[in-house]
Amino acid sequence: MKCKCCHHELQMDEAFCPLCRFPSIKGVDDVNEEVVRRMVREYTENKLRSIRLDLRTYEYVLENGALVERDSQYITLCRGKELRLNEPIWCGVIFEKIPSDRAFTVSLNLRSEAGEKSIELPVTPDHVIEHGKIGVSLGEEFTLQVFLMSGDEKICIGKIPVLKNTGP
Ligand SMILES: [Zn+2]
Repeated sequence: MKCKCCHHELQMDEAFCPLCRFPSIKGVDDVNEEVVRRMVREYTENKLRSIRLDLRTYEYVLENGALVERDSQYITLCRGKELRLNEPIWCGVIFEKIPSDRAFTVSLNLRSEAGEKSIELPVTPDHVIEHGKIGVSLGEEFTLQVFLMSGDEKICIGKIPVLKNTGP
């Protein structure tokens, strides 16, 4: 049996989901299905309310034939109330491929009920994309799934747990 809210696998004797603390609900009929759906929606909105995910963007200039980092700033990728389960919100920023041999990371800053933390998501050379964009959706077990998209190709580059008692 799975948690009706975050889909974490539950033991039969648990009254609450150990991950998100949503009550364990069994044997729901059609009439009550709608009530449970509403409970899940309200509970999820409440859990996500304080979330804001910012992305660090970099500006480069060409100096003597080499690209030099000139400036960086954070832009907001998404806020908790905008998040949808498995449906990414795409950021308006378009990424250009930086010709470079060094490893590339996506730098994020997450604010949540657990406080604030920096997250570095490594991007492998296979993921290096031209004119790519970045998106975020809500995943199962209250994670934020971060995607890169180039053309029709969508790659998940990381899953970030957002609840207070989970994750690093
Ligand atoms: Zn749960």
